[in-house]
Amino acid sequence: MSLHGHHFIAGQSIAADGATFHAINPSISQLLEPAFGEATAAQVDAALNAADDAFDALSAAGPDARAKFLELLADKVMGLGDALLERAFAETALPMARLTGERGRAIGQFKLFASLIREGSWAEARIDHAIPDRQPLPKPDVRRVMQPIGPVVVFGASNFPFAIGVVGTDTVCALAAGCPVVVKGHPAHPGTCELLAGAVYAALAEAGLPAGAFNLVHGKGNEMGAALVRHPLTTAVAFTGSLKGGRALQDIANSRPVPIPFYGEMGSVNPVFVLPGALKTRAVPMAEAYIGSVNMGVGQFCTNPALVLGVASAELDTFVQAAADAAAKVAPSTMLHPGIRTAYVDGNAGIAKTPGVTVAGKSSAAASSEATQAECVIYSTDLPTLEANDHLRHEVFGPCSIVTKCATKADLLRFAKTLDGQLTAAIHGTPEDLREHADLVRILERKVGRIIFNGFGTGIEVCPSMHHGGPYPAASHSFFTSIGTASIYRFVRPVCYQGFPDDCLPEALQAKNARGSFRLVDGEFTKANA
Ligand code: NAP
Repeated sequence: MSLHGHHFIAGQSIAADGATFHAINPSISQLLEPAFGEATAAQVDAALNAADDAFDALSAAGPDARAKFLELLADKVMGLGDALLERAFAETALPMARLTGERGRAIGQFKLFASLIREGSWAEARIDHAIPDRQPLPKPDVRRVMQPIGPVVVFGASNFPFAIGVVGTDTVCALAAGCPVVVKGHPAHPGTCELLAGAVYAALAEAGLPAGAFNLVHGKGNEMGAALVRHPLTTAVAFTGSLKGGRALQDIANSRPVPIPFYGEMGSVNPVFVLPGALKTRAVPMAEAYIGSVNMGVGQFCTNPALVLGVASAELDTFVQAAADAAAKVAPSTMLHPGIRTAYVDGNAGIAKTPGVTVAGKSSAAASSEATQAECVIYSTDLPTLEANDHLRHEVFGPCSIVTKCATKADLLRFAKTLDGQLTAAIHGTPEDLREHADLVRILERKVGRIIFNGFGTGIEVCPSMHHGGPYPAASHSFFTSIGTASIYRFVRPVCYQGFPDDCLPEALQAKNARGSFRLVDGEFTKANA
């Protein structure tokens, strides 16, 4: 499949007329063809106008047409076949098995959102019938339901080219809700973005939906991304990436003449608490599982367990030694792109030179910079050192992690209270440990989006109960998730209708419950007609 390096606006391929850039094959440090263009201000404007023009038709098409589109998208993405996987592999060096699995996750997400909107309960229809003879004042007929907000700008992350990218959750749930999207292609995998855009247009056309519902613009400079956020027709932004980038774009969203919601999913150190009962009974297997999680995807997961805390003991020493032994066996692997490797090497240099931090263990083979490789590194330190050095508490994206020994349980709890917001935290222990550390759980409930018992945050289940987010700086808005069906609520808002005739109401609020969804009618959840 040949690539052209153009933008896509309302289905038209638009040649680049600004600066250009190339993707890099990180395994061999070579530029990949073709050149991709940096979208100009006029192209950004055209993309947002196309999205805005498509809004009414996309919204009016209704849930069935949008669900059909999502199901067709599954076929179209599968139809790209190995060409998609091969280009993604060339651009990201993610192993084929991982890419195949991630494509499956993306397709699962299309189907999940299709069934969500077909069923309809997600829209939270509420109906309060009028009581004209209520005393002392009549009660009006009041109804509310979620409605799409308008064009959504999507920034995907480098580490999930399928599941958090052009056809990732953000795009899929925005379209499911009825919001057109403008995606900023990730500059590390623009060819993958282009191939996926073709699949989106094929599915939109077959489902009879407007081409302007989807637009893809490329760019490597920050100005183009900032212009997308600033554009007056943008009504919300979904961002997955670094704290630095997310915060810069969040500030732009907030400083617009009309501020808009900015949903940033950013980095996290995902603390792991190893409790005494678990250390006594399974320090070694726990350490091996920890090293497995640290190295999953070459440590390039926002849920990577970058910080472990336990009370100093002989068993904690055993855990550190077993982790060091397992780290030594980890072969250096290729990272997503040279910029991420440079940040990883610099971040490790900063940790390693901190007084009070020692390298407990690392990959015995040396990493090749030509092959953009990273070594696994496990550090050991104590709580006073961790508390005195802010940089030890910030994400270094890649396969490194710090084990911290606390003198007492009280110290461990005191530190937990000072944690920044996190996507996840894990507790490893026996059920008795967990009961004895109920105070730790209470602290984490105020700090973390997802708390895992005897597991790790890496590997996210896409389901209705998933919450992938957390207090700032893990995410820009702790109430919302970017993964799972609840992520749709980022792109809708409640609209209330008072005194409307039945046939002028949105379908979900009419007397006939056409979809048989759950609705709150006069205070009772029911699937009955109203
Ligand atoms: P990134 O460097 O922040 O880039 C993400 C996107 O934002 C890219 O398109 C990038 O384009 C753009 N961008 C970054 N800074 C910008 C700025 N100041 N102005 C305008 N655009 C900007 O992140 P990444 O390297 O793709 O991904 C790695 C990071 O994502 C890690 O920190 C990881 O923890 C995080 N992540 C979080 C989640 C989550 O769900 N919370 C999931 C996956 C990854 P340019 O490169 O052109 O600037």
